[in-house]
Amino acid sequence: MKISNSNSIYLPKVCSKLYHYYSTTTTIPNITTTALFNKYVDKTSVYSWNSIIAELSRSGDSLESLRAFSSMRKLSLNPNRSTFPCTIKSCSAIFDLHSGKQAHQQAFVFGFESDIFVSSALIDMYSKCGQLKDARKLFDQVPHRNVVSWTSMITGYVQNGNPHQALLLFKDFQIEESESQSDGDGDGEEQVCIDSIAMVSVLSACSRLSEKTITEGVHGFAIKRGFEGDLGVGNTLMDAYAKCGELGVSRRVFDEMTDKDVVSWNSLIAVYAQSGLSEEALQVFYSMVRYTDVEYNAVTLSAVLLACAHSGALRPGKCIHDQVVRMGLENNVFVGTSIIDMYCKCGRVDMARRAFDRMKEKNVKSWTAMIAGYGMHGRAKEALEVFYHMNRANVRPNYISFVSVLAACSHAGLLDEGWHWFKAMEHKFHIQPGVEHYGCMVDLLARAGFLNKAYDLIKEMKVRPDFVVWGSLLAACRIHKNVELGEISARKLFELDPNNCGYYVLLSNIYADAGRWKDVEKMRVLMKNHGLVKTPGFSLVEVKGRVHVFLVGDREHPEHEKIYRYLEELYVKLQEVGYVPNMMSVLHDVNEEEKEMIIRVHSEKLAVVFGVMNAVPGTTIHVIKNLRVCADCHTSIKLIAKIVDREIVVRDSKRFHHFKDGFCSCGDYW
Ligand code: ZN
Ligand code: ZN
Repeated sequence: MKISNSNSIYLPKVCSKLYHYYSTTTTIPNITTTALFNKYVDKTSVYSWNSIIAELSRSGDSLESLRAFSSMRKLSLNPNRSTFPCTIKSCSAIFDLHSGKQAHQQAFVFGFESDIFVSSALIDMYSKCGQLKDARKLFDQVPHRNVVSWTSMITGYVQNGNPHQALLLFKDFQIEESESQSDGDGDGEEQVCIDSIAMVSVLSACSRLSEKTITEGVHGFAIKRGFEGDLGVGNTLMDAYAKCGELGVSRRVFDEMTDKDVVSWNSLIAVYAQSGLSEEALQVFYSMVRYTDVEYNAVTLSAVLLACAHSGALRPGKCIHDQVVRMGLENNVFVGTSIIDMYCKCGRVDMARRAFDRMKEKNVKSWTAMIAGYGMHGRAKEALEVFYHMNRANVRPNYISFVSVLAACSHAGLLDEGWHWFKAMEHKFHIQPGVEHYGCMVDLLARAGFLNKAYDLIKEMKVRPDFVVWGSLLAACRIHKNVELGEISARKLFELDPNNCGYYVLLSNIYADAGRWKDVEKMRVLMKNHGLVKTPGFSLVEVKGRVHVFLVGDREHPEHEKIYRYLEELYVKLQEVGYVPNMMSVLHDVNEEEKEMIIRVHSEKLAVVFGVMNAVPGTTIHVIKNLRVCADCHTSIKLIAKIVDREIVVRDSKRFHHFKDGFCSCGDYW
């Protein structure tokens, strides 16, 4: 081999150019290029080619690695067993099934298909390219399997959404392991032994399955085998428990880990952030910064930003943004996108836009985050403008981009635009609409009063409609007073989401509007028999850096007397400008007077009032509610914004409402 050691680090780049040259030109090679080539490699030696293919594959230049392989074949050189694993790995890395199949065929022709390294690489390639059947066929056929082939196959099942099969295969793996150990000596065959990488793969299957007992079983196995101290195993285990909702166990695993790396910290922050426990996520981040030598990175900051986005915590979010700037990570597309998302969800869509405009590099996720941000604030025009820019910048929209575009149309009631893009996504962009896209379209059609069209669309769906789809139809049936379709959607919802009492309340109200009191009573009994209680609504408001939480009719707050006094004063003023209470959202089993008393003290009203009383004059009041804002609060807050001459922003479970001067940004369409 004539590869010079001192130059080996530069080899991939030099070779890339050479191979490109060799694979594209048919004329006599340029003299300097040939000289360069000869200086580094002996092009007649398969070993040289193997080194180059391996080097390119390892350095991530998969395409060049494949070009090298085909150039070598053009020179009529026969590959040997070492040629294939790296060539096939390059195919997996870029999900190139076509080249993968070609490499497989060549491996077969040259008799290396059953080689343990070649077959493991092929199993991995087929799994990564989504061809699980081919992977399994090969896995079952090969005479020898090692831990790499087992792990590749198990990982293949996990990555292709079949964690159950992964766990079944793990059982077979254990059997083969014990068999290989009992007759391991003598025939010279390699013993198969479960290692920590295989454990990580099995634990990822547990994460996907989210079943506590299974996770516990695998955890027990890992302890028995002495893997509990392994960093990768610990990190995956934390995630697996978190996915079963066992945050406490997840935390215990973290606390008991002797070695923690940045991945462990990031995982714990992500676990809390994804579960909506933003306070805990921030606490973990702060203790990581204070106590440890572990340096946080872009992934950490993104996870913390996600926590801030969840809770609408602008202040820590801004601090993290400053930190991002200090660390020079603003141009990291991953972090930049999290910043956009954080500002949007904290109600500062214009700040998000400024951060977006400053990003030097934008990928499809960054564009989509900006579209989604405008959408949830009811600024559909701007959302669509960003979408047009994105297309003009030749960034191809993906599945999620279209969810954001359609959601923006649905938040603003833009029926024609919605239809246009719903059709275009399939016909022009070749993206099959999924349940989320249908959800937006059903919502758009139904709220515009086209209930039957919406129902027809549901019936046409190629995917199973979920509770969002039926929920949109049910809510629209209430607005448009359609008992028949209301009953159909409610029945589906009782099956899909039996513990949500909101649907019972909605159907009961539909019956009440139609004067069907017997049915109203039936719903009340049903709810009682199922032991259903309404999810308590609560609202948050940040005043002078402190977050205040209010429940409906809250009397826990130290200043509640002052708040109720001010609320009464406001009510007098509200009535002067023509406010009439709207009791649409209250269950019909209380009398009118009681209803009015209930809606009067809704949590969002209390939070708004407290904000108005305490926030610095001229500033915007930001309130977050866990459920959707009710019709009466919506009307009242519009008028309150006018009376006190303040801008009030309310984030509910579905979108943002910007109240100003008697109007709301949603145009009463929410
Ligand atoms: Zn309300
Ligand atoms: Zn609104």
